[in-house]
Amino acid sequence: MNTCNICGGTGWEFIKEGELNTARRCPACYFKKTQIKRLSSALIPSRYEHCTLASYHPQHATQKKAKQIAIRFIEEYPDINSGLFFMGTCGVGKTHLAVATMRSILDKGFSCIFYDFRELLKKLQHSYNTESELTEEEVLKPVIEKDILLLDELGAQKITSWIRDTLTYIINRRYNDNKITIITSNYMDNPVRSKEGKDEEENLTDRIGYRLRSRLNEMCKVVVMDGQDFRLNRQTALQHHEK
Ligand code: ADP
Repeated sequence: MNTCNICGGTGWEFIKEGELNTARRCPACYFKKTQIKRLSSALIPSRYEHCTLASYHPQHATQKKAKQIAIRFIEEYPDINSGLFFMGTCGVGKTHLAVATMRSILDKGFSCIFYDFRELLKKLQHSYNTESELTEEEVLKPVIEKDILLLDELGAQKITSWIRDTLTYIINRRYNDNKITIITSNYMDNPVRSKEGKDEEENLTDRIGYRLRSRLNEMCKVVVMDGQDFRLNRQTALQHHEK
């Protein structure tokens, strides 16, 4: 076990202030402790705990570009005006890159929270039960107040008037407070339509409505990602990367 070379593991640094021998909270241990707290309150699901920029190996030109955009975003944060909207088909690493970005922002000392869109809705619905430990306000507070909100799989649930009102409330509060939001979605603005010309595949506006789509345009830079589903080709993809 590594013992802190400032406080020797006591949590206190003994210092001299003029004639006075005094103690203050160890700055290194305090930072580490708050960092651990910040990370656990970010609610990153365990299946995305491994997601870092270093472990993201682009398999397609759009993924390479997406990684570069994420790196620039991290370097410039908090001196930025818009969030990121990773859009693309399943398994191209949208959530991986979004989580990796969020982790780097956490490391810079900012507060972040991860929510799968459907999980957030479920948690809010559950908060209406009388047995629920949390009220709706308590669920929403971090979603609105954290420096960064990562909303994963937006559009995964078809919009109803309750979902629209809830999402509009969250998005508008964050917009008005100049808070940055990172979003992922499998739904795109311009999905590839079938050859017959039938609109089989819904676009993002079909899923979340025009007003919300337009508001998100003001809040986030769209990053379109393409490629094969990494989950299906994991082995080949990594071998290709190692070459
Ligand atoms: P999406 O959000 O686009 O559906 P995910 O980010 O959930 O895709 O990726 C699915 C799995 O594949 C995750 O475990 C992720 O870490 C991994 N993955 C996807 N793309 C890459 C990549 N380019 N390099 C390394 N791992 C990847």
